[in-house]
Amino acid sequence: MSALPLTGGCLCGGVRFEVTEPLLAAGYCHCTRCQRRTGTAAAASARVAPGSLRITAGEELIRSFDPPDGFKKAFCTACGSALWAQHPEDAELIAVRLGAFDGDPGVRPSYRQFVAYAAPWEPLPDDGLERFPERRPSA
Ligand SMILES: [Zn+2]
Ligand SMILES: [Zn+2]
Repeated sequence: MSALPLTGGCLCGGVRFEVTEPLLAAGYCHCTRCQRRTGTAAAASARVAPGSLRITAGEELIRSFDPPDGFKKAFCTACGSALWAQHPEDAELIAVRLGAFDGDPGVRPSYRQFVAYAAPWEPLPDDGLERFPERRPSA
């Protein structure tokens, strides 16, 4: 287990946050939106336990892209770093980008979702993770 709280932040260091409880399920998202948002083939994120994410610095730097049909995508306006996604109706439903953590987040991705839209230039790794053509059905 990783020591709690987990800490993390954006590239410029303006935004800092901590997560006070162990992370829940983590996975890769291969949707087109995540490809655009990150400039990469997939995005790795982990759900946080409700109420366990605290912004410790730079709240004024955080904005979010709020698509009409999906999670809000929070990012740092100073450096553009992706921070987390938040459900538009259930504010406690948050998935933090794994790359935003300082150290070992303690969880490992266990699935790949939206693999039907996977980037043609990067084959899906044969890693044995559960795959879902569309969104992973919520438990
Ligand atoms: Zn920043
Ligand atoms: Zn996605």
